[in-house]
Amino acid sequence: MENALDTLRRWITGSRKMVFFGGAGVSTESGIPDFRGAGGLYSQEFDEPAEVMLSRQYFFTHTEKFYEFYKRKVLAPDAKPNPAHIKLARWEADGKLLAVITQNIDGLHQAAGSKHVLELHGSAGCNHCVKCAAAYSLSDIMSARGVPRCRCGGIIKPDVVLYGEPLDDGVFRAAVTALDQADLLLVAGTSLSVYPAAGLINAYHGEHIALINHTPTDRDHMADLIIRDSVGAVLAGID
Ligand code: ZN
Repeated sequence: MENALDTLRRWITGSRKMVFFGGAGVSTESGIPDFRGAGGLYSQEFDEPAEVMLSRQYFFTHTEKFYEFYKRKVLAPDAKPNPAHIKLARWEADGKLLAVITQNIDGLHQAAGSKHVLELHGSAGCNHCVKCAAAYSLSDIMSARGVPRCRCGGIIKPDVVLYGEPLDDGVFRAAVTALDQADLLLVAGTSLSVYPAAGLINAYHGEHIALINHTPTDRDHMADLIIRDSVGAVLAGID
């Protein structure tokens, strides 16, 4: 009997319009902590849960504490792409992969060479002044002491989707378009129950959904194939 990895290998070999949907688990192998993960949380160090500290309201009412948490627990400017990022970039270059849809904000897919990356939660690499909209880089944020401020005096805000903020409409629609065209959907490092994964997957009409995730979720029944392993290890083993 064909094992799960062989089945996935066969599907990927036969695919010409693959779409990859990834979550925090894709970046943990690059050393970026999953701040939503059980036990991954800022535990005793910070008073509030991540859902509060990374909310739009907290950003504007406790900007200094927001940045303290964000810089220490969310950003990882020295992280490098891992074998999963690298393999996905190669599949795109080979004309097998339509798009990477990601919930991560770390820019590692682009660092690995991927071109069509749909960042549902925005990008830590882009930051703008809330007053005059001037653009700032990640290193501007990292090097600032206290709250990063614009030349005009305004507060600089990361272009990431905070709790309490809507997803970018253009990115969401591009993700729906890619899923609608896909002939294979690979979901990895995220549970299908996390918003907006569950809803987005309804836009997919291809034959197979493969899920690579360490832990079971209540949406596992949506997948035709489940592999409980690390994303990098699985993708590195497929050509
Ligand atoms: Zn400004």
